[in-house]
Amino acid sequence: MPAHDDPLAGALAAIVGAPHVLTDPEVKATYEVDWTSRYRGESRLVVRPAGTAEVAAVVRECAAAGVPIVAQGGNTGFVGGGVPRGGEVVLSLARMDDVEPPDQAAAQIAAGAGATLAAVQDAARRAGHFFSIDLGARDSATIGGLLATNAGGTRAFRYGMARAHVVGIEAVLANGAVVSRMAGLPKDNTGYDLAQLLVGSEGTLGVITRARLALTSRGGSVATALVGIESTAEAVELFARLRRDLPGLDAAELFYANGLELVRAHAGLPAPLARAFPAYLLLECSAVAGAQDDLVAALGADADAVLADDSTTRQRLWRYRESHTEAVSARWIPLKLDVALPLSRLAAFVDELTAFARAELPAAQVFVYGHAGDGNLHVQLVGLDAAAERDAMAAVLALVARNGGSIGAEHGVGVAKRDWLHLTRAPGDVAAMQAVKRALDPEGVLNPGVLFPDGT
Ligand SMILES: Cc1cc2nc3c(=O)[nH]c(=O)nc-3n(C[C@H](O)[C@H](O)[C@H](O)COP(=O)(O)OP(=O)(O)OC[C@H]3O[C@@H](n4cnc5c(N)ncnc54)[C@H](O)[C@@H]3O)c2cc1C
Repeated sequence: MPAHDDPLAGALAAIVGAPHVLTDPEVKATYEVDWTSRYRGESRLVVRPAGTAEVAAVVRECAAAGVPIVAQGGNTGFVGGGVPRGGEVVLSLARMDDVEPPDQAAAQIAAGAGATLAAVQDAARRAGHFFSIDLGARDSATIGGLLATNAGGTRAFRYGMARAHVVGIEAVLANGAVVSRMAGLPKDNTGYDLAQLLVGSEGTLGVITRARLALTSRGGSVATALVGIESTAEAVELFARLRRDLPGLDAAELFYANGLELVRAHAGLPAPLARAFPAYLLLECSAVAGAQDDLVAALGADADAVLADDSTTRQRLWRYRESHTEAVSARWIPLKLDVALPLSRLAAFVDELTAFARAELPAAQVFVYGHAGDGNLHVQLVGLDAAAERDAMAAVLALVARNGGSIGAEHGVGVAKRDWLHLTRAPGDVAAMQAVKRALDPEGVLNPGVLFPDGT
């Protein structure tokens, strides 16, 4: 049907205003493909409401018309859950980006679902607080997306994932009802915690419209070190020692020689250390004062490390790690597998993965990097055709499961991994999750096709 004849477009325009209902294929296009260019689908239309009441009215209208909804924030997700598969309404939260001044006594901040992570970090910093979630997509990823995926990032081992920061959420359910727990009460034991139920639900249980988040404090002295190491096992040993001896440690990021070479070529960076190493750990710690002295003392005089405590040099060191995602995606559309292993199995997993790739995937290049402190690795495979990609994915995820890990560490399941959910969730778990989904969204209005293998 021509877009101008679409009665749903007219009904939604009456709610949000005609300029905020996008039906022109060229204008819609950026909402219909994900950050990696791997996942794409045509939407019926894109709607951009300005507040919770408008979201509720939009959801009711779409539900009445039997048209499913894909909520979208910054569209930086990696598992295809935030873009349409075909025919859905994309509900963009981008206009709902206000950030309130922090509540100083409670150390909390409230923001609209469309506020970017960077905007919340900045508002917290200006008020003398620290919002500890951090990740490379900070300028685009939104609070709604971070909570819907339960994002992790570089400081999760110390401060927790997105879930740990949630004090309250306002959201619209599939029937258009608004649920809201935004009072910011640290103690509130009055039944099921609906806010936490929505965290990590990947847009399948409700559209998050607003959140209240816990802030913390961080010492003003920050130091970063890039350390050359011989193996994954050494990375785990060093992390275990520093976690014990260096209370201010709040980042431990792992990458390997082939990733470093790719990043250097992509970003034009010099070699970070006097000689090359098989692997590298990027470490950061904070303290009230003297963070660099703490870090040097904990690392020991023999460490092959470059250190920085001024923000320009620290940012330069972070580029060696944070540019990995961009450097890989600039050359290929990688198969991205975000997995978590028990730290005790991390080294064995990397060895088994390397042996598997050498024997079974001679055409592939494998780039591995991630958040060592959580045993969270991003395995990126490039150079495979579609059939080989599916086989490789099955094999790598099975390897993760055999090592006691999770097939989805921080990016979620989305459409990318729904066929492998059984590897880390027992049949009883999946049945319970589907019962929750059916109870809250019996008609399958919110993000059908995401999370569950049967496409519900
Ligand atoms: C360079 C780069 C680095 C990254 N690093 C990390 C990292 O270290 N750790 C990490 O965890 N992730 C990382 N990511 C992935 C991504 O940034 C996160 O998954 C982020 O949480 C997604 O936020 P978004 O606003 O872009 O969500 P989107 O991509 O728009 O959506 C993601 C999912 O959330 C749902 N959703 C979005 N908004 C809402 C809402 N308001 N209500 C309900 N559902 C919603 C969507 O339907 C979809 O299923 C990285 C991405 C990039 C590009």
